[in-house]
Amino acid sequence: MTYGAPGDKSKGTVMIDVARARADTPAVEDQAFFYNCGAGLMPDPVLKALHDHLDLEARIGGYAAEEQVEPQAQATYASIATMLNCAPEEIALVENATVAWCQAFYGLAQDMKPGDNVVTVIAEYASNFISFLRTVKRRGIEIVVAPNDADGQVDLEALDGLVNDRTRLIAMTHIPTSGGLISPAAEVGKIARAKGVPYLLDACQSAGQLPLDVQTIGCDFLSATGRKFLRGPRGTGFLYASRAIMETHEPPVLDLHSATWVAPDRYEMQPTARRYENWEFYVAGKVGLGVAVDYALSFGLAEIAARNRELAGDLRERLGAIDGVTLRDAGRDQCAIVTFSHDRLSVDEIAARLLERSIVIGTSAPEATRLDFESRALPPLCRAAVHYLNTEDEVARLADAVSAL
Ligand SMILES: *Cc1c(COP(=O)(O)O)cnc(C)c1O
Repeated sequence: MTYGAPGDKSKGTVMIDVARARADTPAVEDQAFFYNCGAGLMPDPVLKALHDHLDLEARIGGYAAEEQVEPQAQATYASIATMLNCAPEEIALVENATVAWCQAFYGLAQDMKPGDNVVTVIAEYASNFISFLRTVKRRGIEIVVAPNDADGQVDLEALDGLVNDRTRLIAMTHIPTSGGLISPAAEVGKIARAKGVPYLLDACQSAGQLPLDVQTIGCDFLSATGRKFLRGPRGTGFLYASRAIMETHEPPVLDLHSATWVAPDRYEMQPTARRYENWEFYVAGKVGLGVAVDYALSFGLAEIAARNRELAGDLRERLGAIDGVTLRDAGRDQCAIVTFSHDRLSVDEIAARLLERSIVIGTSAPEATRLDFESRALPPLCRAAVHYLNTEDEVARLADAVSAL
């Protein structure tokens, strides 16, 4: 391990081999890439796993190829379990984070009754909230949104007070798609456990960015995607479901993989989290996702988080000093996603002009996290998400380019 890349003005406090990460990701030479909250750049080992498997499928057919890579596919469950501190049997591999989340949510929703409620937060992700709204319409539940505290993160005392005997779920987005906030996941887990209410954490933006220990967090479900900070293949996601919750929880859909038709009048559901999967899956992605998780673990998620905190802190400092730029990240503990707006320029204009200089950022519209945008009266935002393979020079380049706009 080295301290930062050679020639890097690293502050020298974070143990990440930036040179190795960059050598494994040749595309960093073509651009300064800050869109890790959209889809991260896959490192070469992930790309190679995908290519190898697709080649194998082309040569011997998809079924034979799947059989041949069975050990690697199984290893993916183990790798994710290592990352989350759970058992491989508590992991389901699905197409994306939304499917993972819906398997957990709609499984609970099918038993909800009029007057039941779901407690959530202001930073909740659009797709999740749309599912709550559907369940209001179809099952007569209530959505209870916990307010934020003065720092712009969920007010824990208020949330605690809102959970009652009709609460069927606490659902929270760990890191919103549109900002630097890190929600206090473990503190909410304590409340959920004390009240005996299932807890579903949307960790889509935190997987690959922060250490995630489901025992410490105390969640029953955790959903995430492969393609963002984990730098895995598109079309991959996973769900953690605890053994305890699986004693009673059933997914909304079962097929001949998630269940077995054991007699003409009877099926048996898989005892493990495989019950949340479908039979058909993107096998190259399954293998590639495991490689991506191993790759992240080879750097260490605590180390990745520490380096990202330095880079993001540096970026916030630089952007905050620019006339006309307003930083928009909330919360006490902030992550790698840096959001900002500009007094005179639209986010699309900013993103396009940065792209002309080979600097890649994303944008965020109010529809992604509407309650957050409306409660803070936010305009559309630029999203620049650093990751451990970014250099301090790239951060300076981004800030200088915004300054020159
Ligand atoms: C991107 C995102 C999702 C959706 O992930 P998919 O893999 O596209 O389904 C869910 N929640 C949050 C917070 C996200 O940022």
